[in-house]
Amino acid sequence: MQNLSTFKLIERISTLIRAEERKKHATLGLQPIHIQVLDYLNDYNSYSNTAVGLTEYFGLTKGTVSQTLQVLERKGYIEKQLDEEDARVTHLLLSKNGELLLKNANNDDVFNQAQQAVLSKQYATLDDALRMTLFTLQKSCDIKSFGSCDDSCVHFNVEENHYTCRKTRLPVWQIETHKICREHRLPA
Ligand code: SF4
Repeated sequence: MQNLSTFKLIERISTLIRAEERKKHATLGLQPIHIQVLDYLNDYNSYSNTAVGLTEYFGLTKGTVSQTLQVLERKGYIEKQLDEEDARVTHLLLSKNGELLLKNANNDDVFNQAQQAVLSKQYATLDDALRMTLFTLQKSCDIKSFGSCDDSCVHFNVEENHYTCRKTRLPVWQIETHKICREHRLPA
């Protein structure tokens, strides 16, 4: 994995988190953007908790933000409140159900495990810490590691500068040893 840049590691962690969120909230008829919007509304102040603020922050169209808010309002996760000074402004607030949903989403065991694993050790570089976060999340979520041969794959074999894959029992070209493989497997 040492060939992945810091931003690629962040992107992979983000992709994994979104995929897990998608699975988890699908049963409630929600998509990751719905949880992200609730998170935003929980954290941002009264100048920002508006449809315009969401449009600017997420870079979405007004139509997409409007549809997202309709779903959240219909399901009872947000409430609208007119601004006391300016009736043209509508603030978006979390309802009790919205707060509860967000609390449960943020208390997820998988992410807590990853956090504990990262906080319990010291890392020489940011990439090392991110790599550990990614591995821990992959293990906790029981999903494939998608690493490269030279990134601790148990199937990788080096003999006198020749590379082979024990899984496929075929040679691996050097240029391929840095590329990401769906058959990659981390040591136990
Ligand atoms: S399984 Fe994939 S990553 Fe692992 S050694 Fe074989 S080709 Fe490389």
